Amino acid sequence: MADINPFEIVQKQIDKCAEILNLNADITRILKTPMRELHVSLPVRMDDGSLKVFQGFRVQYNDAKGITKGGIRFHPDETVDTVRALAAWMTWKCSLLDLPLGGAKGGVVCNPKEMSVGELERLSRAYVRAVFQFIGPERDVPAPDVYTTPEIMAWMMDEYSVIAGKPQFGVITGKPVSIGGSKGRSDATARGGMYAIREAAKSIGLDLSKATVAVEGYGNAGYHAARLISELFGARILALCDSKGAVCCKVAEEGIDPQAAYECKLATTSVCNLPGMEPISNDELLELDVDILIPAAIESVITEKNAPNIKARIIAELANGPTTPEADDILYNNGVHVIPDFLCNAGGVTVSYFEMVQNFYMYSWTETEVRERLDEKMTAAYHSVLNTSREYKINMRQAAYVRAVERVVEAMELRGWV
Ligand code: GLU
Repeated sequence: MADINPFEIVQKQIDKCAEILNLNADITRILKTPMRELHVSLPVRMDDGSLKVFQGFRVQYNDAKGITKGGIRFHPDETVDTVRALAAWMTWKCSLLDLPLGGAKGGVVCNPKEMSVGELERLSRAYVRAVFQFIGPERDVPAPDVYTTPEIMAWMMDEYSVIAGKPQFGVITGKPVSIGGSKGRSDATARGGMYAIREAAKSIGLDLSKATVAVEGYGNAGYHAARLISELFGARILALCDSKGAVCCKVAEEGIDPQAAYECKLATTSVCNLPGMEPISNDELLELDVDILIPAAIESVITEKNAPNIKARIIAELANGPTTPEADDILYNNGVHVIPDFLCNAGGVTVSYFEMVQNFYMYSWTETEVRERLDEKMTAAYHSVLNTSREYKINMRQAAYVRAVERVVEAMELRGWV
């Protein structure tokens, strides 16, 4: 994983898209370059009295279509190239869902699992102080991502408001509902993915009530995906994993109870401790004989090495960047229906956008309103990608690129950038 540079993957994906759309070299050059990047050092007092200096980034990739938007990750392996790639994918994601937003992403190199609540709060506030002048409700609006939570969003919003000298709820999304968060935001990424899976199953003729599922990763996206796929469709979970390992259920007919797995993870830190399961490796999980595979953790887990062995009929990418371009080609040739990341996981940013709208209006929608609007957006985006993939005879990721990039290019041209 460590030797795969996600920003190089982005460059390859853009080149391929430029070829399909016949884009000129100037446009392609802009699309391949982040608009603005911030590298910051964050001095944080640790509980033992020592001072640590953390490294952080905020990359604003392209704002042709509007205010930039994208989460902040707290991850020990964070690199600026990963943040660049994720910021590019946010640009395509917002465009594909037809949101009036550009793309950005933030990251801090740290291991939240080894930090106390107080240390995390001080780090979160230090990050906001460092990027204060470059974010804002009308400039760039962060959100949660890997290992960042509504609680962290609340601290960040508070720090920004203190510096601004007035409440600024709209500076960040994914906040707790009682301080300006949107109902339906906490499971929005997974729920949006469910709408895409529902449409994908129809298009390939898969009966979801009999479908079997493996979920890779058990954070916010993975847990809610496992819960919702069984709740909404009656599909059966056969295997789960997290960073500590993977488990498979011994009796396939019974399946795994997603709630029990969640509680086990809360109590013991890993789904691996769930009683009555057979331990397997994370690689075995990806290659398991299931109908639907849901990568819901980090990037570059499906590569040319394991792609030939993947048996799932649908891969629903809730993670960002889980599949390398080489693996994409193999999966396409093998007839695997991939719902690409910036389509499949766009529910998160879509409800974040709803949160921004509600904050601007100082109004709040019901959970039903949020879900209906999300369903409408995800369903429309899925079908536009599917139709494009059939029309151009290209894989679903390239089709998503075509639809997303052409709108960004149109905005750049209308604004006179090229
Ligand atoms: N971090 C999420 C993503 O990758 C959500 C971004 C947002 O809500 O702005 O899409």
